[in-house]
Amino acid sequence: MKVVNDNSCGWINDLDKRANIKTLVKDQSCDWLIVGAGYTGLSAARKLSEIHPNQKIIIVDAQLAGEGASGRNSGYLVDTTLNDGFISNKDLSNYKKKTDIYRLGIDVVKKFIKEHQVDCEWNESGKYFASSNQKDRKILENFSKTLLKLNFEHDILEKDDLGKRLGTNFYNIALYTKGGILLHPGKLVRAMIDILPNNVELLENSQLNKWSKNSDTIICKFKNHKITTKKIIFCTNGFLKSLGIKNNYNFPLTLTASMTRPLTDTEYKSIGEPKEWGVLPVRPMGATIRMTKDKRILIRNTAEAHNPFKMSKLDLENRSFKQKLGVKKRFPNLPYDIIESSWSGVVSRTRNGSQIFEKIDGNIYVAGCYNGSGIGVGALFGEQIAIKASNEHTKEIETIELRNKPTWLPPQPFLDLGVKTRLIYERIRARLEI
Ligand SMILES: Cc1cc2nc3c(=O)[nH]c(=O)nc-3n(C[C@H](O)[C@H](O)[C@H](O)COP(=O)(O)OP(=O)(O)OC[C@H]3O[C@@H](n4cnc5c(N)ncnc54)[C@H](O)[C@@H]3O)c2cc1C
Repeated sequence: MKVVNDNSCGWINDLDKRANIKTLVKDQSCDWLIVGAGYTGLSAARKLSEIHPNQKIIIVDAQLAGEGASGRNSGYLVDTTLNDGFISNKDLSNYKKKTDIYRLGIDVVKKFIKEHQVDCEWNESGKYFASSNQKDRKILENFSKTLLKLNFEHDILEKDDLGKRLGTNFYNIALYTKGGILLHPGKLVRAMIDILPNNVELLENSQLNKWSKNSDTIICKFKNHKITTKKIIFCTNGFLKSLGIKNNYNFPLTLTASMTRPLTDTEYKSIGEPKEWGVLPVRPMGATIRMTKDKRILIRNTAEAHNPFKMSKLDLENRSFKQKLGVKKRFPNLPYDIIESSWSGVVSRTRNGSQIFEKIDGNIYVAGCYNGSGIGVGALFGEQIAIKASNEHTKEIETIELRNKPTWLPPQPFLDLGVKTRLIYERIRARLEI
């Protein structure tokens, strides 16, 4: 199976086309091979080159670097994610471990953009967990108690206030967190590609098909050539399973998103000229919706167990149609047909929502499975897995390793059945918020 992406992602189409794209054209050997050039793989490559300036490092990607989920996400660099309140101190301590990792993720991205003067439309605007359903008030009040205990600044906001801030009367209640950043995901990942150091060789449109370990080396087979490496780091996130990595601990989910054209001045005035904002749903299957810096509206309201290798044009159009309805529901006065681009992307999930960060074997490492927090956590895990694979230790690794480990998943066909049933159930619960 070949990784095939649509070429209609609004974020990626904002960027200049890249030149000098290299692919694997001969057999090679190296000290380090990184598979997957998204936030995780690129951050791992950057860190490895710093630790081992004289070693040969190759990073490969099945498609163009950064054009997987890293260039296609909704651009929320999160400090908190929503959980339905906590009943015990153990739950609270687990939530704290999660947010400690988010904080480190924000620090890594912040340091990166400062050091390399990256313009990725960074906006410390905070974010809203919003709902049109008054029944969700209880969830937000419980969440507020958790955030209070952990000292996260936040407010509960009501319909009128939300209408003024967001330019839509759709939402009845929200919890606003001051922390959390909105950014342009494509610009961020492009900067990570642009600054790759000279001792890192990036090979694109080069898909790893099979790999095997032979005493101390790993042999990686591509379409026409092979790479033999001393150490390997898998950073393929939604495609870990297709390479046989942690098979019983992760599964891919396909998300689709759409973005409108920029609103005209008249349209923007008609919704009250709100500043840039980002809303996350209270229920997992509700819509993520964003007003971008340049007045485009982004909406993501699907998550599915779909073939991760390809979404057909027709499938994408069907999802885009639902997103058109989602925008119309929130902004009834805007024209119906303002969606300019729709795309899909693949993420990876574990059963308990925890991430994978691990040495699988003496010279085989893996980092991935961040659900909706991969911008910060991916950048963090990429750097730290490179450090771990170099047999060094940091406080960050200690924090990461304190998290709950991913739990075991049932085999097929039970897994598919379980995932699909759960998604249907969550979709019904969130039906008003899609
Ligand atoms: C629509 C959408 C919205 C999202 N919103 C957010 C958000 O707002 N905030 C947030 O933090 N996260 C969000 N995410 C999740 C986030 O994008 C991911 O967690 C993050 O990009 C993971 O980065 P990564 O580098 O680990 O994986 P990816 O970016 O998926 O990179 C993996 C790379 O591996 C390559 N690959 C796969 N198989 C092979 C192979 N066999 N050989 C070679 N290369 C291979 C792929 O081509 C890909 O480029 C969203 C994701 C999607 C799809």
